[in-house]
Amino acid sequence: MKLFDYFSVISSSIVFGTIFIAIAGALSVGVVFGLVCRTVLRNKGYPPQLNHGFLWGFFLGLIGFVVCLLKQPYFDGQSNMYGRGNFGNTYGQPFGIQPGSSDWYCSCGAPNPPDSRICLFCGNTRGH
Ligand SMILES: [Zn+2]
Repeated sequence: MKLFDYFSVISSSIVFGTIFIAIAGALSVGVVFGLVCRTVLRNKGYPPQLNHGFLWGFFLGLIGFVVCLLKQPYFDGQSNMYGRGNFGNTYGQPFGIQPGSSDWYCSCGAPNPPDSRICLFCGNTRGH
């Protein structure tokens, strides 16, 4: 009986030890992927409050990493390729001619000067 107790302690230690190592390992891998993904998104210009890279990497690991790599660079409306200042947030606004703005926004989301009839980014004609 004493011998049995001894072995049951050993085997349960092995079981719980293995579970612990597996959980610790998964957590470590998750944290590493999370930090890497967060760095990827930070390099794409995402502000900290919109940077969910850590969660992507932590829960999805390599898949989350690929998702972060494929994400579009963050466009905050504060800056654009012309560097002409603040156009406000264009998300959720109808495409086309924007009221109160001399610029028009193409269906691809790019701002274009009013005298241009063709999108400088994708070549779509205005109003499409
Ligand atoms: Zn366009």
